[in-house]
Amino acid sequence: MKRVHVDHAEGRSKSLAPDGPAPEREAQPRGARIRGNRPVDHAEAAERFLAASDHVSFHDKRLWDLREKRDRESHGIAEWEELRGLASGIKEHALTRLDDYLELFEKNAAANGIVVHWARDGAEHNRIITDILRAHQATLLVKSKSMLTEECGLRPHLEELGIAVIETDLGERIQQLDNEDPSHVVVPAVHKLRSDVAEVFARTLGTDPDNDDPAYLTEQQRRSNRPLILDAKVGLTGANFLVAETGAIVVCTNEGNADLCASVPSVHIVSAGIEKIIPRAEDLGVFVRLLSRSALGSPITQYTSHFRGPRAGGEMHVVLVDNGRTARLGMAEFWTSLKCIRCGACMNTCPVYRRSGGLSYGATYAGPIGLIIDPTYNRHKYSLLPFASTLNGSCTAVCPVKINIHEQILSWRRVMAENHEPKLRKRLSMQGAAALLSRPAAYRAAVDAGNAVLPHIPRFVLYNPVNAWGKGRDVPVVPGQSFHAWYKANRK
Ligand code: SF4
Repeated sequence: MKRVHVDHAEGRSKSLAPDGPAPEREAQPRGARIRGNRPVDHAEAAERFLAASDHVSFHDKRLWDLREKRDRESHGIAEWEELRGLASGIKEHALTRLDDYLELFEKNAAANGIVVHWARDGAEHNRIITDILRAHQATLLVKSKSMLTEECGLRPHLEELGIAVIETDLGERIQQLDNEDPSHVVVPAVHKLRSDVAEVFARTLGTDPDNDDPAYLTEQQRRSNRPLILDAKVGLTGANFLVAETGAIVVCTNEGNADLCASVPSVHIVSAGIEKIIPRAEDLGVFVRLLSRSALGSPITQYTSHFRGPRAGGEMHVVLVDNGRTARLGMAEFWTSLKCIRCGACMNTCPVYRRSGGLSYGATYAGPIGLIIDPTYNRHKYSLLPFASTLNGSCTAVCPVKINIHEQILSWRRVMAENHEPKLRKRLSMQGAAALLSRPAAYRAAVDAGNAVLPHIPRFVLYNPVNAWGKGRDVPVVPGQSFHAWYKANRK
């Protein structure tokens, strides 16, 4: 089949596939198996992801590359830590006066000609949007990326009613066409290889299955989506920030698709969680400097667009959504998770996330932020997620709004243990560990005994299907002397 190359402003693209017969393609691992309200088994899905070596290696490298870029950008700003402190302070201030700022936003947005709606939960959010679409006899909604609409299940809701939904963000569109959820809050299809995307587009858009050149694939997506955007009566975007003092909405994207969704159709709907509020326009200077650097390691998003009212002759609606946020605000240990600006930095740095893929969490939010948010939606279903962490604290160290993520993960483990959520085997082993670790003499005796016995234990005892610990690890070589014995011998 002939390979098509696309001319771009940056120069002619090259097909990245080698000439000659294509190598055997590794199947893309799929996400967690959802079984009603049963606890999502992250470990099981992670094991399948880990078995796909090409995918796991690409995923790990791609996200670590974002982490390194983030480090370079943040180190280039002398006042980085000061910015983090300011961002955290502004968010905490706004969250502790949420009712005042939301009402101020409503008043100013209404004065700008925006219709403000309030939604208690996902069902109400979906109903409000359906009503707006019906009022305009719209059978198509074009939208940009919004984790909130994922959270509310907007797309399946509208599709059930016969209203087509088109994702215009490239990664989201790939995921929509492959009937998968986004696996990352910023790069939704990051778990896919180029060859996976070529396969999805060939299957759904009729493109050349042998051409996995990113420029070619992007152009094909653009050609298929652009006429739909031009046709749509209603477009939807998310919101990165709601500015209380001006009633404006700020949307940060890199593809310009949100601007098309907001500006081409005559009706613009904004879906926004109530925690997106910030008091003043000048606060944006803090967040805009942090957001893109933390997310992608780039100084700024390509488009940072301010929407202050409907276009001439059009309509603009903002749906302010609670969906569990005020309940979370009342949780003493977990309310600061509402400061999250969805940059994804905690995901990029997390060794568990990088090696298990976002879909293995089986929830709207994956990675460290998911571990502390998801259980607020369903404590039982997401009861195992807080254990998918090494608690190394790297997530907390990179978070631009200083959420104590790893401490909240630990708190969730305590909550789950109190609710008897972990499996019996885990509960018993944790009780045993607690008994041992709280008795220094018994602990030291166990270490000495373990060191003496370990080298002589047959391999099958440590590495077998029952022992999950041994599946991905080797027991280190036992040193001749424990640290405690060395310390006793060498220090007074
Ligand atoms: S918790 Fe922090 S690092 Fe993670 S996505 Fe939210 S703002 Fe970014």
